[in-house]
Amino acid sequence: MKNYFELIIVLLLCSSISCTAQKKEAHTSTSVTFQFNTDSLLHHVKILSSDAFEGRRTGTTGALKAKDYIVSKLKNLEVKPLVDNYEQKFSFSSRKQDYQGINILGLIEGTDFKDSYFVISAHYDHEGIRNGQIFNGADDDASGVSAMLAFAEYFKKNPPKHSVILAFFDAEELGLQGSRYYVENTIVPLESIKLNMNMDMVSRNDQNELYITGARDNEAFQNAIQNQKASDDFKFIMGHDGKDGKQNWTFSSDHGSFFRKGIPFLYFGVEDHKDYHRPTDDYENIHPEFYKLAVQSILSLFLEIDAMKL
Ligand SMILES: [Zn+2]
Repeated sequence: MKNYFELIIVLLLCSSISCTAQKKEAHTSTSVTFQFNTDSLLHHVKILSSDAFEGRRTGTTGALKAKDYIVSKLKNLEVKPLVDNYEQKFSFSSRKQDYQGINILGLIEGTDFKDSYFVISAHYDHEGIRNGQIFNGADDDASGVSAMLAFAEYFKKNPPKHSVILAFFDAEELGLQGSRYYVENTIVPLESIKLNMNMDMVSRNDQNELYITGARDNEAFQNAIQNQKASDDFKFIMGHDGKDGKQNWTFSSDHGSFFRKGIPFLYFGVEDHKDYHRPTDDYENIHPEFYKLAVQSILSLFLEIDAMKL
């Protein structure tokens, strides 16, 4: 009799373990359908944050190399140039040094609301080389740049309803210089820009959380964010908007330049991590599964907002 009970207990335990295992399975990223090539997504981060790009500091050969890399991908993905050869050049001074910067601007025409624009942005510059150490900036912000290329890949087959400007900004690290120049010299009328979606540091977080700043006063955006699928592997959190006691990120990256002009923005970024602005912000330290889910979730959110008339 005793053995019989033991057998039942063992059987019950086994079935509950296998059940837990199945539940875990359901939460892994393999159940997500990615709408872009995830190998390419990771590959671009790896290339752009390799030592060959010398930390992509504005005005250096490393930054020019990054610019050429991005332009060649945009051509492959059939993204139209918004300006000649995609390049918007500008100059500025910072700490008594003169710089030449280049924003890279691509255009995807909308199918329904052609004269209304979303600017999707990320910065391709980083900190360069200091004291002989290369600051590769894998998360900051090769991750955002590669995410934009994934968007371009998606738009090639699935054009958006609103027109989209893909803005790869330069000189963010020198005080949001590229985006500031862009909003002053915007190519399309400023009032036709309905939203800036800015991605800066979207590839790693120990809690699988990605913050969205900018939705605090917009109920439609808040609803769209809440509609996105959350799991143990990925979730959006709204905040860092000056209302929740956390550091206010309203001007922490290029979206700040749009906000100054009164343009709504959504900023996507993770909490600072131990490799933030250090030479160890390398490809090996990003979290590939989190990153893929982050980019897919931002794309899903984009599609939901694109379906509204802004
Ligand atoms: Zn950054």
